Amino acid sequence: MYSNNNNQDCVNISSMFQNFNPDIFSRRCVWVNGPVIVGAGPSGLGVAAGLKRQGVPFIILERANCIASLWQNRTYDRLKLHLPKQFCQLPNFPFPEDFPEYPTKYQFIQYLESYATHFDIRPKFNETVQSAKYDERFGLWRVKTVSETGLVGSCQFEYICRWLVVATGENAEKVVPEFEGLEDFGGEVVHACDYKSGERYRGKRVLVVGCGNSGMEVSLDLCNHHASPSMVVRSSIHVLPREVLGKSTFELAMKMMKWMPLWLVDRILLFLADMILGNTEKYGLKRPQIGPMELKNTAGRTPVLDIGALKKIRSKKIKIVPGIKKFGPRMVELVDGQILEIDSAVLATGYRSNVPKWLTDNDFFSEDGIPKNPFPNGWKGEAGLYAVGFTRRGISGASLDAMSVAHDIANSWNEETKQQKITAAARHRRCISHF
Ligand SMILES: Cc1cc2nc3c(=O)[nH]c(=O)nc-3n(C[C@H](O)[C@H](O)[C@H](O)COP(=O)(O)OP(=O)(O)OC[C@H]3O[C@@H](n4cnc5c(N)ncnc54)[C@H](O)[C@@H]3O)c2cc1C
Repeated sequence: MYSNNNNQDCVNISSMFQNFNPDIFSRRCVWVNGPVIVGAGPSGLGVAAGLKRQGVPFIILERANCIASLWQNRTYDRLKLHLPKQFCQLPNFPFPEDFPEYPTKYQFIQYLESYATHFDIRPKFNETVQSAKYDERFGLWRVKTVSETGLVGSCQFEYICRWLVVATGENAEKVVPEFEGLEDFGGEVVHACDYKSGERYRGKRVLVVGCGNSGMEVSLDLCNHHASPSMVVRSSIHVLPREVLGKSTFELAMKMMKWMPLWLVDRILLFLADMILGNTEKYGLKRPQIGPMELKNTAGRTPVLDIGALKKIRSKKIKIVPGIKKFGPRMVELVDGQILEIDSAVLATGYRSNVPKWLTDNDFFSEDGIPKNPFPNGWKGEAGLYAVGFTRRGISGASLDAMSVAHDIANSWNEETKQQKITAAARHRRCISHF
C-alpha cells in the first residue's frame, strides 16, 4: 500500500526516476476515509478538531508550508485582532487567560499552533488543490492536487472521498485593480498582504489605496514610522470607535442586537460614534446611507474600528484624497485633478475567494466564490459538499460553521460506517492508497 505521509514516499519514488521525463509521474490516487478539508486556516482547523473529537478520520490539504498562512505570511507586523478575543475563539479551546483582550497576531498564531497540537491536527502542507469535482457515477469527490516537493519539482495526487469541506477562506487571493499608467510609475507598489512595517518607508510619501481596516491601519503605521501617507477614499465608510467607555463597541452592538431592531442599534452606534469621534464627514470620510450593522449583514462590509488613525487624519498627518485617475512617473493624478508626487503605493484593495478557480460544476457557490445561501444557511451543499468561513463574520462565523459541519459529517460517517460494517462492502478497493 502506498502512503504519502509528508510526501516522503513521493520524493523517494520520484528520485528513482530523476533522469526520466517528469511527465511519466502520473497522478497518484489516494482513497480518503472520511472528508478532505481544503485549507488549514482557522476554519479548516475548527472542522478538523470537531471531527477528531467525534472519531472521524480526515485529511487537510494546505497550499502553504504552515497552518494559518494568512496570519503567518500575509499580515503586517503591528496587527492585533480587531475584535476582542472571546469573538475570535475556535470551538472547545479558549484563549489563555493571560492573553490581552486584543491579542497580537503572534499571540493568535501561537493560539492556533496550540489548537492544532491539542487536537493532533497534522495538515499535508505544500499541497495546492487544483480542482475538485463530484463524480456522479460513483457518488464520490475527486480532488486533484499538486504538491511541491522541493527536490524534483512537484507530485500530483488525486484524493477520492465522500465529503469535501471547502475552508480556503474569503481572503485567498489579493485583489489588485488595474490603474492607468501604473507601469510608468517607477516607485514601489505592494499589496497590503505584502506590507510588513512602515520602517522602510521612513521619510517617504506613500499613497495608501483603500480605507478599510487594513488601509487605515497601514496609514497609521506609516505615520508612526515618520512617513507621509495619503489615503485614497473613493466610497463611503463607517468609522466607529473600537471601544465605548472602555467596552468593546462590537460586543456592545452584539448585546444590543439581541434586544433591539437593527435600525435602532445602528442609530445608537452612530450617535456614540459622533460623540466620541466627532463628525467624520468633515475629514472626507462620508458615511454610507445604510447603518453599520445593517451594511455588514447585507453586504458584508465591515465598519472600520478606529485604533488611532482618525486622530492622525484630524491632525492632517494622514491626508485623505479622492479616487485615482491615473499614475505617472513618481506621481498620481486624482479624479479632482490634483497631482500628488509620491514615492510608493500600498494597495489595501482587499481580497477574494479562489473557490471558482478550482471547484467546478457546482451550484452551491456563486461566481464570487461565496456560498449562495446567506448566513446561517451557507455551510451545507449537496452530495457531501460543505463550506466553512464564508459568512463575512470573521472567526466567530467560521467557528459556528465548523461545529455544524463537523457534527453533520460525523452523523453521516457513523451512519455509513455502521452499514459498511454490516455489508462489508469492498467497492473502493481499487484505489492504490489509503488514509
Ligand atoms: C488583515 C486581516 C485582519 C483580520 N482580522 C480579523 C479579526 O481580528 N477577527 C476576525 O474574526 N477576523 C479577522 N480577519 C478575517 C480573517 O481572514 C478570518 O477571520 C480568518 O483568517 C478566516 O479563516 P479561514 O480559515 O476561513 O481563512 P484563511 O485564514 O484565509 O485560511 C484559508 C487557508 O486555505 C489555504 N488555501 C487557499 N486555497 C487553497 C488551495 N487551493 N489548496 C490548498 N489550500 C488552500 C490558504 O493557504 C489558507 O491557509 C482578518 C483578515 C485580515 C486579512
